[in-house]
Amino acid sequence: MTSPAPPVAIRGRVLTFLDDPAITGDAASYRYIEDGLLILENGCIREAGEAGALLATLPPNALVHHYPDALVMAGFIDTHIHYPQTQVIASYGAQLLDWLETYTYVEEQKFSAPDHAARIADFFLGELCRNGTTTAAVYCTVHSESVDAFFAESMRRNMRMIAGKVLMDRNAPPGLLDTAAGGYEESQTLIARWHGQGRQRYAVTPRFALTSTQAQLEAAGALLRANPDVYLQTHLSENPREIEAVRKLFPKARSYTDVYDRFGLLGPRSLFGHCIHLEEAERTRLSETESVAVFCPTSNLFIGSGLFDLHQARDRRFPLRLGLATDMGGGTSYSMLRTAAEAYKVGQLRGQRLPALRAFYMLTLGNARALGLEYQIGTLASGSEADVIVLDARATTAMAHRMETVQGNLKDELFVLMTLGDDRAIRATYVAGTPVLGPAFNASG
Ligand SMILES: [Zn+2]
Repeated sequence: MTSPAPPVAIRGRVLTFLDDPAITGDAASYRYIEDGLLILENGCIREAGEAGALLATLPPNALVHHYPDALVMAGFIDTHIHYPQTQVIASYGAQLLDWLETYTYVEEQKFSAPDHAARIADFFLGELCRNGTTTAAVYCTVHSESVDAFFAESMRRNMRMIAGKVLMDRNAPPGLLDTAAGGYEESQTLIARWHGQGRQRYAVTPRFALTSTQAQLEAAGALLRANPDVYLQTHLSENPREIEAVRKLFPKARSYTDVYDRFGLLGPRSLFGHCIHLEEAERTRLSETESVAVFCPTSNLFIGSGLFDLHQARDRRFPLRLGLATDMGGGTSYSMLRTAAEAYKVGQLRGQRLPALRAFYMLTLGNARALGLEYQIGTLASGSEADVIVLDARATTAMAHRMETVQGNLKDELFVLMTLGDDRAIRATYVAGTPVLGPAFNASG
């Protein structure tokens, strides 16, 4: 008989968010424990608190992974990313529609081959773990094979992931087109196969209004009605030329948002990437329906789409639920730290502030709330799933040098992390209690 595995605990400077600092004020928005301990059990956090008190409750054979000086936080969440674009990232010189045609549609056609899809899914999820991202809302390609490959790899790693087959039945190369009926059937089959399997969740994924006929958007709405607990993800109002083209294709719609609204695609489980150039009536509808607007700063800057309006998203008359995301490969980094840095700069160009505390809230609890998963992930509360990361604000020489002047101020440390940090600042990553990066992972061989 084998004895049960010894309990594992993580010790360090524990930081977890309780609410949005923009609403509650800084002090009430987080809990910070200078010498904290998380006790893990069955992939979850059994207890979180002061190390001094909790260490005494551990059995003598417990393994304590100690990260002195490092910050222990919930894993980052990325609410919009494309796994088939790992070899599209850093493609030169095009705005949205040309960028799709010249680069993206070429790469995405390769995902009809299961071997290619499996290799990229493995690389992609490994890269997320290296960057401290433990959950993401992920676009696959139009091919069912790409979805199977992605979820199979995510299941193997026991990661909490949301993903779906892209629906496209017009305005794309023949190798990337499905049909309204075929896309419905394939999505339904994939939902039955993957949604709710372990930590996997499905998102109905029409790419955007330009690549779906009216019949396909109707089918997407039917999929949501038939499967009320799946997500919807798509793109909305990213680029002026795109918006103009949508107007021509859907002359009866009052706005871009109205195109989706007509087919029942708005709602609390609906994620709309970009939302840069919205009219007031569109923001009102998104707010009323509790839809989520997803801000993708590195992508918006790189593709030249525009500057998201963070303040407007908090308009008291019609506040928007908000996500923050990389949108890799339109985005230029897998790192949510880099993403927070660029979000800050977009704010600067608009004369708006993004304090570090709010940025880290958005990367964790804020994005968990955007996905309706705040009781599973995004915090270090007892009972949460143990997706945990360890951050080192002295990871590079430039960071260590800057930190000499920070002297114990948490907000300053977080700002250094988001401004100068990247994957090198992620010292360890745990997925459902299992180390997947860092010294404990290396020691486990
Ligand atoms: Zn995107």
